[in-house]
Amino acid sequence: MSDSNPPAEPSRGPATALAHAGRSPADHHGAVNPPVYHVSTILFETLDELDHGIANKFDTVYYGRLGTPTSWAFESAVAEIEGGYRAVAAASGQGALSTALLAFLQAGDHLLMVDSAYGPTRFFCDSTLKRFGVEVEYYDPRIGAGIRDLIRPETRVVYLESPGSMTFEVQDVPAICAAAKSAQPGVTVIMDNTWASPLYFKPFSHGVDVSIQAATKYVVGHADAMLGVIDCGDEKTWKTVKTQATHLGECAGPNDLYLGLRGLRTLELRLAQHHKSGLQLADALAGHPAVKRVIHPARPGDDGYPLWQRDFAGASGLFAIVLHPVERAALAAFTDHLQLFSMGFSWGGFESLILPGDPASLRTATRWDEDGQLVRIHAGLEDPGDLLTDLWAGLDRLQQARA
Ligand SMILES: *Cc1c(COP(=O)(O)O)cnc(C)c1O
Repeated sequence: MSDSNPPAEPSRGPATALAHAGRSPADHHGAVNPPVYHVSTILFETLDELDHGIANKFDTVYYGRLGTPTSWAFESAVAEIEGGYRAVAAASGQGALSTALLAFLQAGDHLLMVDSAYGPTRFFCDSTLKRFGVEVEYYDPRIGAGIRDLIRPETRVVYLESPGSMTFEVQDVPAICAAAKSAQPGVTVIMDNTWASPLYFKPFSHGVDVSIQAATKYVVGHADAMLGVIDCGDEKTWKTVKTQATHLGECAGPNDLYLGLRGLRTLELRLAQHHKSGLQLADALAGHPAVKRVIHPARPGDDGYPLWQRDFAGASGLFAIVLHPVERAALAAFTDHLQLFSMGFSWGGFESLILPGDPASLRTATRWDEDGQLVRIHAGLEDPGDLLTDLWAGLDRLQQARA
């Protein structure tokens, strides 16, 4: 019989960490969840307290924009689960990634940006960063250690997103980080880790310095808030990011931070179902005659599978199918009469989504030669059998509508 002590904290499992991270009921009259601080002004009773606030403005309540117990609860929970040193909350995923890029780049610097990046990340680089004199060079997501040949003395940031937006290429993150840092020790590696969430990929143990989450997606998980977070691997990196966020006025609203914190509590359960349903749909759809191929890195045989299996603890519910070339009217016969899937941006909520996309228009370093129509699918939390019935009927309609 065991009467041994429970394991020490660092070994506690992800579901346990999610249930307890960022909470301290004893500080809040025993309330299970931290209260939501609606605040701008913080009042100081004495000159000493005011001076203390000024000297410690990132670590005490000082002014609403710089941090509150609500933002700290969310940030510390994300950092604990993802394995970072400390995180900085932002008003959206886009706010998080643009703040992180601005924190480490200045005029004359060279940025290596992955060619399969989220579209608005590219738009930010090609407009704002270029306007401020940063040279942006796109690279092949599958480059691996070959990144070393692109590193220059002025390279300051290498940016990753894995798997890639819409096209799901899995990057060899440890190889890229190691090669980039041996060629240029001062380089900062930033990664968009939204697809895997803080649970299924641990960026800091693979060499990444700064991890971005569009918390809008799986962390919030219910399609009801915009939220971002920048998780940093060490104190120096965190200070750089926090200072930049402060200068940009980047801060998240208290209710949205609370929804992010609430979403974290069920993240493990939700992701497990997204993983299962996504794979089930992907496997079945591969057998429909309208489908040319399925892109899902957690399926054996997929290009990204070996790296996914090596580095990830699970898959989320987002993947793509490529249809045989199809006229717009036939595509509409598929998309416009679905019962459970709706068309819309974002993903990661409880609801299933579908979105046709054109990756060719978002690439410059590599080519997207696929002639078929790509459709991105988010498997929500509905019964997977119902989801498959809906998609299958839609694809049958598409086949019938073909000329
Ligand atoms: C949605 C998304 C973002 C941006 O997040 P918002 O909260 O919508 O601003 C960034 N990166 C990826 C990979 C995304 O899918």
